[in-house]
Amino acid sequence: MPEPTAVRRAADLLQRSGKTVALTGAGVSTESGIPDFRGKNGLWSRFDPMEYGTIGAFGKDPKKVWRMLGELLDLIEAKPNQGHLALAAMERKGLLAGIVTQNIDGLHQKAGSSKVVEFHGSMAIFSCLACGKSFPLARIRQLALPPLCPECAEVLKPDVVFFDERIPAAALSETEELLAGVDVLLVAGTSCQVVPASYIAGRVYRNGGRIIEINLEPALGGFAEITLAAGFSKVMTQLLNALSK
Ligand code: ZN
Repeated sequence: MPEPTAVRRAADLLQRSGKTVALTGAGVSTESGIPDFRGKNGLWSRFDPMEYGTIGAFGKDPKKVWRMLGELLDLIEAKPNQGHLALAAMERKGLLAGIVTQNIDGLHQKAGSSKVVEFHGSMAIFSCLACGKSFPLARIRQLALPPLCPECAEVLKPDVVFFDERIPAAALSETEELLAGVDVLLVAGTSCQVVPASYIAGRVYRNGGRIIEINLEPALGGFAEITLAAGFSKVMTQLLNALSK
């Protein structure tokens, strides 16, 4: 349980902030039933990332990679939790400029958040690497797996960023825009150990921004001005209540 005073201090900081951005990772989706891909029961404990998570592997044997992607398709049926909903409510109240997420599950958008930068792409769009055409998730759901391009019959690839792919340029520039002039960074469900999350948190800190950390196991140490060590849904619900007073 986070200390009530810490929640109050976080709410005060958010209310005084001229611009707040959230940075989210796998930990915000675990309560929606999506295990951390890198965790004990995660996707990468069962599928070797080098064999299933690279564009090289997809090029060599896309049908094999779709054994992993098929599981992802099931996972993203998940529903947003109270924490996702609270972030969307903060945006509607004018207390959140946007979200940068490492997640590919689309749960922030399902919760109603409108400004979401997806650093690692998403499962919302599927593209044909041969003819360049793209198709929405709803269309893919109607096809047998692995889904073949209706135009040229090549195996389609979701617009997620594989391990050996670059972060899309559009995501980078949207992040830059969002981070300009940020007063408060709300870090949730990520230990910020990996680029680009580590870079974003470090940059906000160096520029004099303040960091609120929401992690079951806090990882930011002295970088965080306020640490709320509890589950995402619980903390966000309390925070939203405090912001409504
Ligand atoms: Zn095609």
